Order: sequence, then structure tokens, then C-alpha cells
Amino acid sequence: MKTIIIGGSHGGIQTALTLKKVKPKDTVIVYERNDFISFIASGINLYLKGAVKKLADAQLFKEKEVAKAGVDLKKRHEITAVDFAEKRVEVKNLATNQVSWESYDSLVLAMGSTQKSVELSEESDGDFVKTYKSFAESQTLLAEIEAAESITIVGTGYIGVELACTFCQIGKGHKINLIESGSSILNRYYEEKLVASVETVFKENNVKLLLNDTVFSVAPLANGKKLVKTTKTELESDLIIYAINGRPNTGLLEGQMITLPDHTIKVNEYMETSVPDVYAVGDLVAYPVTNVRGRMYTPLVNETVRTANVAAMKIAGMPVKYQANQRTTFTKVCGRYLGSIGMTVKQADFEGRDYKTFLYETKDGNGELLQLFLVFDEVSYVVLGAQVTGSENLNGVIDYLSLVINRQVTVEELVTMDCAFHPEINLPYHFINEAALRCMQKQLRRR
Ligand SMILES: Cc1cc2nc3c(=O)[nH]c(=O)nc-3n(C[C@H](O)[C@H](O)[C@H](O)COP(=O)(O)OP(=O)(O)OC[C@H]3O[C@@H](n4cnc5c(N)ncnc54)[C@H](O)[C@@H]3O)c2cc1C
Repeated sequence: MKTIIIGGSHGGIQTALTLKKVKPKDTVIVYERNDFISFIASGINLYLKGAVKKLADAQLFKEKEVAKAGVDLKKRHEITAVDFAEKRVEVKNLATNQVSWESYDSLVLAMGSTQKSVELSEESDGDFVKTYKSFAESQTLLAEIEAAESITIVGTGYIGVELACTFCQIGKGHKINLIESGSSILNRYYEEKLVASVETVFKENNVKLLLNDTVFSVAPLANGKKLVKTTKTELESDLIIYAINGRPNTGLLEGQMITLPDHTIKVNEYMETSVPDVYAVGDLVAYPVTNVRGRMYTPLVNETVRTANVAAMKIAGMPVKYQANQRTTFTKVCGRYLGSIGMTVKQADFEGRDYKTFLYETKDGNGELLQLFLVFDEVSYVVLGAQVTGSENLNGVIDYLSLVINRQVTVEELVTMDCAFHPEINLPYHFINEAALRCMQKQLRRR
């Protein structure tokens, strides 16, 4: 059997590796138009903070590993057309410009996404607004960061906030403006009170945070800087960075398969598209989310590798279903760990849920503020969402809360949900249990 994979980033390579592991005799070819595979999009942060020695080290899968697995990786090859009826793809060798057709038994679409400005018009953004998802874009941007004194970052989702924090941490004296249309940073994931400590660090590091503001044009000035016009003000900056998520690269398939209104490809729980033997993974698809009607576009590496495994196992004849996620996200910014799982208040409103909330605040092992915010169903007390922040690594807590929401656990059940204890490590009563207990007590007092 022969599988062709379009795209050699995390989704394409993970699919290839899993498939070769279970079907070593299968032919698996990955076509990637760039020279670099599986670049970690936040590589700039890793490099600037010294977590990797060079930008090229920000790579999830190495070429050596791919070759060792027996995957036929063809870099600098672009798929320029697909012919589903004949089960073949048109391949352009970008080094020689030669074009040929290659047939497949199974085809995996892993073309991912590209960052595109949504608010600015084509004429006004042009080359002046930078994004940095690929290795090449990140390399160019790094050189510009070195040369810049003032930088404007547009958007305070994880991408923008992590970048601004990197600048605070490296302390090279960049003058940073951070622009957000909402009333607080990271507002798609956290309530205002949970991000207040990060906003304070920004203020302490002279990051100019412009909330409730929107950029509507960017233009070059005679002095080499760019003029950023927002709804409230005008700013001059050497460099403008758009910190936005990508949009699915589905242009190649225009009109040939079923897509959803957000331009993602419609797939079932095995990542099968509406065309037989054709699968789509990673940033090309939207996901079912626990407690949410319809699907949500959550382009993340963890989703990408999970869907890649689902597609590979289906092709191999050992189907594993993709199940709903909880939109579990996690970051470490300005010395704080933050995790968001399931519904925020905004989402609960959007979904028309009757809910209550509870905020538990205490001190963590470092004596710093530890917060757990719960959103739960008003009648059943089923936990719908959780947000957690602290100065210690909360990875395990976040994954635990993800399972709590996935399994529809109630606040009452959470009071006694099992958590481990060791006297040298933690307290016998986990803060999750304590928070749930306090929440129940508050509800009882209200009755
Ligand atoms: C700045 C930034 C930071 C991010 N940080 C994080 C993070 O910290 N954690 C996290 O979980 N997620 C993060 N993400 C999201 C993450 O990068 C994506 O979810 C992930 O890259 C998706 O992987 P993918 O394989 O689906 O697609 P992509 O990484 O988009 O790759 C698609 C590949 O397909 C190739 N391709 C496209 N069309 C063709 C064609 N016709 N022929 C040949 N090749 C083609 C492209 O060149 C590309 O290499 C970040 C995104 C951005 C923009």
C-alpha cells in the first residue's frame, strides 16, 4: 500500500512515523514544499530565551528520525493539484521545476495553516506586518528583532503574550506596545482576575498595554519606522508583529471536498474526509469539544499529533476514534503557569448554559498566589470549565482537570476525587479537593 502525505510539519511527519511503525512495509511519501520540517512555531521564544542554541533546534521531529523510520521525505516538492477520481497528485520539484503525477492508495492532507491578517486591508499591511510560523519567517524576523528598538505586537492570545514576556525576560530594552481588542489579555481562555498578575509584570517592564483597542492601518514613514493607527491612538514602531493563529490552507482543494463555514475540512472521528481514502489532520480540521455544540478550530500541536495518529491507525486498518477535547491549553509567562480547560464564562454564555462560578485563591509551595476558577452547571454541578494559575508547574493539575471535564465530574465528586500525597512533596488534601469543598460550602450557605 502507498500513502502520500502533503505537508512535512508536525501533522504530516507524525502520520508518516506512526504508519511506518505499524505497517513497516507500506510506502509512505511526505511532500514538503519548504526546506525545513516540523518547525516549532514558537521557536523564536525558545531561541531568545536560550532554551535552544540555534533557531534550527526548535524542531519536533528530526530528519534523521524520519529517514530511519523508512519514510520517503521529499523536501522542496510542492503538490500543485489533486485528482481524486484518478487517486493521484501533481508534484512540482521546486529545485528543478519538473512536474509529474504520483498515484496513491491513501492520501493524507497535512497542509496546515498560514497566518493571515484579518483586520487590515491588503494595501495597508503589505510587507510591514510580520508573522512567524515557519522557520524561514522566524529567521527573517529574528534579524529584524535584533535591529529594532520599538516593537508593536498585535493580539494578546498565547502567541502575543508569550512573545511580549520573552522581551520582558531577555531585557534587551526593546520598547514594546501590546494591542488587544478585548478588555484583558488572553481573554479567550481566562477571566480578568486570573491574568492580572501577568498584566502587572508587563507594566513593571514598561510594556505599553493597549486594551479595548484595534489596529486599522499600518504605513511606512520617511524615518524608516511604521505608523500604526488604532481606533484610539497612533504609534510609531520599528517592527509590527501580528500575533495571530493560522487559517487552514485549503486552497489546493477548492470545491473538491466538503469544508465547514470556517474553511476547515469536514472529517469524521477517523479523520476521513468526504472523499474516499483521503484524510485530513492538524490545522486543517476543527474539533468536537466537550459540552460545546458544533466544532471549534483550535490549531495546536497536541491536537495535530493526536489526529495524525488517528489517521495513520485508520489507514493501517486498526481504527482508533478521535474523541472530543476540552480545549486544554497551557503556558508559562512572566514566571506564572496558566492553564485553561473547558468553558470560560464567555463560552458558557455563548452556549446558553445556566452556570455558576467559584474562585479559590491560596498560596502555592513558593508562597505565591495559586488560583483555581471553576465554571459549573447551576443544577447538576457538573464542572464545565476550569482555569488555574500559580508559580509552580501545573501541568499535571491541568491534565487532571481536563479529564474531570471530559468525564462530566461534578463539583461534589471533586471534593473527594483521589489525588496522591507524600509528606515531602505536597499536602494531604489537594488544592483541587479544597477548592471543590469550599465551593460546595458556599453553595450550601446560599440555600
Ligand atoms: C507563532 C505561533 C506559535 C505557536 N505556538 C504553539 C504552541 O506553543 N503550542 C501549540 O500547541 N501550538 C502552537 N502553535 C500552533 C501550531 O504551530 C500548529 O498547530 C501546528 O504547526 C500545526 O501543524 P500542521 O502539521 O497541521 O501544519 P503546519 O505546521 O502549518 O504545516 C503544514 C506544512 O505543510 C506544508 N505545505 C502546505 N501546502 C503544501 C503543498 N501544497 N505541498 C507541499 N507542502 C505543503 C507547509 O509548508 C508546512 O510545512 C503556534 C502557531 C503559531 C503561528
